[in-house]
Amino acid sequence: MPDKLHLAHKPTPLWHHPRLDEIAGTEVWVKRDDMTGGAEAGNKLRKLEYLVAEALNRGARALITCGAAQSNHARATALTARRFGLECVVFLRTRDAAHEPNTGNLRLIRMCGARIEFVNHAQYADRDQLMQREAERLAAEGNPAYVIPEGGSSGLGCLGYVDAVAEIAEQQRLGLCPDGFDAVVCACGSGGTAAGLVLGAGRFGVAQTVQAIAVCDDAAYFQTTIERVLLEAQRLMPELTARAPLHVVDRHKGPAYGVMSEQQQAFMTRVAQQTGLVLDPTYSGKALYGLSQLGVGRALFIHTGGLPGLLA
Ligand SMILES: *Cc1c(COP(=O)(O)O)cnc(C)c1O
Repeated sequence: MPDKLHLAHKPTPLWHHPRLDEIAGTEVWVKRDDMTGGAEAGNKLRKLEYLVAEALNRGARALITCGAAQSNHARATALTARRFGLECVVFLRTRDAAHEPNTGNLRLIRMCGARIEFVNHAQYADRDQLMQREAERLAAEGNPAYVIPEGGSSGLGCLGYVDAVAEIAEQQRLGLCPDGFDAVVCACGSGGTAAGLVLGAGRFGVAQTVQAIAVCDDAAYFQTTIERVLLEAQRLMPELTARAPLHVVDRHKGPAYGVMSEQQQAFMTRVAQQTGLVLDPTYSGKALYGLSQLGVGRALFIHTGGLPGLLA
């Protein structure tokens, strides 16, 4: 059993609103993982519980990770690094570093003093090598570093979402939400959350299927990526043998990464106006919109956070 820190504020609430059921066209329970913390909140914090534990066990003095310029993951990692007195280097993908506004996630990453290395899209394609080289450079200077892959989506990181499903099973036992969801639905950006849900739902039986709503790439890409993460996780925890069926839905990516269609935008606004639930334009807004189009029965929606992205 890998070591784990306690970073997230758990259990996160289960939230239900009759108006949301009407808007989504089905009964929806929302697992409020947008409330795992303060400025560091969101789904990445559950993954970081395992990843930063390993980093500290290995004597790391710095964390290295990567993401888009408005990466929630880079922000959560940078803040968590500071909490433990670690340095942090983030490789951020941009088309134009000079014009990235100092808002949202980027502002928080800067504010906590992480070192930002902007890279273009072509360089970002080699992110794993970039991070590895940076780790070697830091190690040579006497600063051992720990590399966290994009989105924290390794076998180790995804165990945070196996734990999230165990937490939901316990909430069901306490009568805080109904038993037996037809689907658990999440936004899918690097695949680790979906992978953890597949193993968690396989083990704890909270939902029949996992529906991962892609916000980038496509279904074939995520099937491969998630399979790799699943195998890694099963090597770490061989008792995680069962898997819930996974469906990757890539019809709701919208016009571009971080850009919503008019319909998606209107949906997100309607949810805020009629229920007070705030989603984000890159992940949770597209995913809940996707849920409303799925035609599934009673659904459990993982609200993965992303508020700073909305404010950017
Ligand atoms: C990273 C992120 C996701 C996607 O999770 P993955 O595990 O990377 O697929 C969804 N929502 C938000 C707000 C995120 O920051």
